Amino acid sequence: MSQEIGVTGLAVMGANLARNLARHGCRVVVHNRTRARTDALLAAHGDEGEFVATGSVHEFVAALQRPRRVVVMVQAGAPTDAVVEELMAVLEAGDVLVDGGNARYTDTIRRTAACAEKGVHFVGAGISGGEEGALLGPSIMPGGSAEAYALVGPLLESIAAVVDGTPCCTHVDGDGAGHFVKMVHNGIEYADMQLIAEAYDLLRLRLGMSPAEIGEVFAGWNEGDLDSYLIEITAEVLRHVDADTGRPFVDVVLDQAEQKGTGRWTVQSALDLGVPVSGIAEAVFARALSGHAEQRAAARGVLPGPAAPPEPVGDRDGFVEAVRQALYASKVVAYAQGFDQIAAGAQAHGWNVDRAALATIWRGGCIIRARFLDRIRQAFTDDPGLTTLLVHPYFRDAVAQCQEGWRTVVVEAVRAGVPAPGFASALAYYDGLRAERLPAALVQGLRDLFGAHTYRRVDREGSFHTLWSEDRSERPVG
Ligand code: NDP
Repeated sequence: MSQEIGVTGLAVMGANLARNLARHGCRVVVHNRTRARTDALLAAHGDEGEFVATGSVHEFVAALQRPRRVVVMVQAGAPTDAVVEELMAVLEAGDVLVDGGNARYTDTIRRTAACAEKGVHFVGAGISGGEEGALLGPSIMPGGSAEAYALVGPLLESIAAVVDGTPCCTHVDGDGAGHFVKMVHNGIEYADMQLIAEAYDLLRLRLGMSPAEIGEVFAGWNEGDLDSYLIEITAEVLRHVDADTGRPFVDVVLDQAEQKGTGRWTVQSALDLGVPVSGIAEAVFARALSGHAEQRAAARGVLPGPAAPPEPVGDRDGFVEAVRQALYASKVVAYAQGFDQIAAGAQAHGWNVDRAALATIWRGGCIIRARFLDRIRQAFTDDPGLTTLLVHPYFRDAVAQCQEGWRTVVVEAVRAGVPAPGFASALAYYDGLRAERLPAALVQGLRDLFGAHTYRRVDREGSFHTLWSEDRSERPVG
């Protein structure tokens, strides 16, 4: 008998995932709250494989053989809870429920525990690649137990993107772990896009290049170390001309970036974990700033910029290369920070997450797919306990080679009054990491003076407090 699976939620993602499964020889039982979507899927694509259309949740579950495998692809949040609750009334011990939506990982942990009470396996699976990925091969990050993965893993691997013969799907071992790494993946995606936007802005404002010309530059960069899906589509968007006005497309789009929430969740989680993901945070805040239309209108033309108009950039080719270097180095920092957050999350929750395996499955199918993920895979394979990607010899040297251009670009942006929070904060992070001493020592001193918070010393073990208001001598605490 062929493999079998149920898919409920047949909007763009669910429908395309169902088609992908059917095209791979799977018998796909489909269901959607509104029956019309199910009928539309069958009418348009019913000939692509074996579909079984069902109307009610009972009918849907009854059409599947035990242990049943069900993929839920509905809106994250309350709708997912509603669907899981409905299904749980009918599913039985040993069945597997896969949530392929963009759930918050803490919700996934909660749902996993609730389903386990009835013996139903719950797998929170991060799925990246958008609608095209869902149809042609996404990158899939299924969490949950090894037992659950054994039941659904091979099917998911069969529909994932493939790079160098390896499917872009790996078990991310632990309840909620799949959605956690998908969340960080999205956070990295935010950072990547912000850095690309800054590169574009600097080339436009400092060199006076047109969007189409900048598109050519990005197309060229896509031939080298920066080769990635996001760089490729940046070239496409920048070259695109608005059909109605004949103007560059990017000039007719309102400059207010929206967000659905995964970037914000990433930063919130990073704050809880104490991991400095400054690249992702700057990207989330840059989108937030762009959306504050009223404040921007109040400040535009009122807040002065640099006193003298900036000197034109003399060496055009040199500046383009410097921007490329800033982009590459800042991107490495953003990825390093994202992988740090994954390691910290895994440690905090007791998950077993293999960073090399993640880099491997992000090489294809997903939005951040990039040539340099192969280098990241190699780095974590060389040293699974790597403290930070930045100290791996390959990235240490690659970033070092970009350092001069990176610094030039940040200085130029500051001098000319062009906002480049991603480039600047990445550089500050890099300099903070490599610093011999940080002014954190002064912060500790201040904390001790106003709040008796104590400090540790460079020359002795223990915790110390200075009696600031009396003789100012140091006294050991405890
Ligand atoms: P939407 O997020 O737009 O969700 C629409 C689907 O949810 C429809 O099938 C709808 O049913 C169903 N639904 C909503 N509320 C309920 C409810 N209370 N009870 C039952 N069903 C309900 O669909 P997408 O296909 O865009 O995304 C599906 C999931 O995949 C989401 O969690 C999304 O975040 C995630 N995702 C999306 C990506 C994308 O590129 N779009 C990429 C990766 C993940 P009905 O037809 O009856 O309204």
